[in-house]
Amino acid sequence: MKRSKRFMLLFTAILALIALSVATIQPETVTASATTTKKVKKAKKVKKHHYLLVMGHGAGDGGARGNGTTEATVMRKKLMPHLAKYAKQIKNSNVTIYNPKHNIVRDTLVFHKGSYKIKKSTTVIMFHLDAPSGHGGHVIIHKKHPTTRDKKLAKVIKKYVGLNPAYHGYSYRTNLRNCNVLRRRGIDYSLVESGFITNKSDYKHFNKNIDKIAKGYVEAIANEKIK
Ligand SMILES: [Zn+2]
Repeated sequence: MKRSKRFMLLFTAILALIALSVATIQPETVTASATTTKKVKKAKKVKKHHYLLVMGHGAGDGGARGNGTTEATVMRKKLMPHLAKYAKQIKNSNVTIYNPKHNIVRDTLVFHKGSYKIKKSTTVIMFHLDAPSGHGGHVIIHKKHPTTRDKKLAKVIKKYVGLNPAYHGYSYRTNLRNCNVLRRRGIDYSLVESGFITNKSDYKHFNKNIDKIAKGYVEAIANEKIK
């Protein structure tokens, strides 16, 4: 018994020595491959694109008024919960909502935060309702031509509310101060006008289809189908 125990100890010691020498002979190879694995894992994590959904008015700014309510109320109390529900179901990117206790325009223009602090790699999508009079929605874009995302967003509006005949889906604007901060910083964005809050028909269609609209928007933004 004693003998075989001693033999086992010796054997283990030899094994340990061999392992140690292997580790000393090829330390660079071992470290290198470990680093590569780490890098791959990191790269995969970083790759998820961030989309930031911003409910345009609120937190003290009511926005447009119509149909007995305000833009802030409709966007934050009605649309936002639907957007949040679908945002959570997106797998290939990270879709979050700008702190609803804050107003991005005020954060940006008054406090020099908001759009000044958003990461340059983030895509920003802002949600509004139009006023004072007219019909249909459109997408405010930051380049002369709409992106694939803008086209998909406009399709959703067209299907459920209708497009504003004045814009045929898109309007290229450079006079929105908060948006211009994003533009100057090179941040990709779209601003969605989902129809006129002052228009009875727009308002009715928007409310009736609000869940499908939210789903369509999130799918268009993240470029991903939600089951
Ligand atoms: Zn607005």
